[in-house]
Formats: sequence, structure tokens, C-alpha cells
Amino acid sequence: MAGYRLAQFRGWQHEERMAFCKLIDDAIARGELKPFREIGCNRCGQKQGLGTYHSPWYGSLKYAEPLCWRCHLVTHLERRDPQACELYWKEIKNGKQYPPVFRSDVSIMQREHGICRRWIVRP
Ligand SMILES: [Zn+2]
Repeated sequence: MAGYRLAQFRGWQHEERMAFCKLIDDAIARGELKPFREIGCNRCGQKQGLGTYHSPWYGSLKYAEPLCWRCHLVTHLERRDPQACELYWKEIKNGKQYPPVFRSDVSIMQREHGICRRWIVRP
């Protein structure tokens, strides 16, 4: 996601995460994975706006999952705010699809989903 950089995430270094992005880009270029815009979010079906492949294991494509911006953020925030994230996933499982996001703005998670309300987010 553009706009900020995590030095470390769950033990993964920035460089390892960037290497995963290159793995994804190369797999798309080879036709092994389809671009997000073609297949959409694996959780909510959103095909517009920002989206990417997510994996709990950055070293491999095996668990790579295409996710829209919102579902991707919720995946990363589950440990910080499990109750609010659980509500989001319930909505998605019941067929809810939120509007696409075209600019990465983490305050959306607070304003529209009540996730991580205690965070201080820069405007
Ligand atoms: Zn989604």
C-alpha cells in the first residue's frame, strides 16, 4: 500500500514483503496468476479500486489470495481489533460489498467500519 511503510510486520521485513510483491508481479506477467481487476476480491467480490494479493506467508505464492483494499486491511487488523473485524467478515459473508477504495486511507477503517477507533490516524 502506498503512503506508508511498515519496518516489520509479524516478523517479516519490508524487503521480504517487497520480494513477495515481485513474486506476484512476475506470476501475473507469466500468466500464472490473474490480475486483481480480472478476478476481484476473493472475499467480497469487489473488482474495482485498489486490490492486491495477500498471503500469510510471504515466502510463497501457495497461499496468495486476491483481496480488495478493505478486505486486505481487515485481514491485517484482525489481531488489533478482533471484534470489529469479526463484524466486518460477518457482513461480507452475508453478501455485503462495500464501495471500492481508490486511494489508500486507513482512516476509512475507523470511519466506515469502526475498526481500530483508538488509533490516531493522520488526516
Ligand atoms: Zn473484499
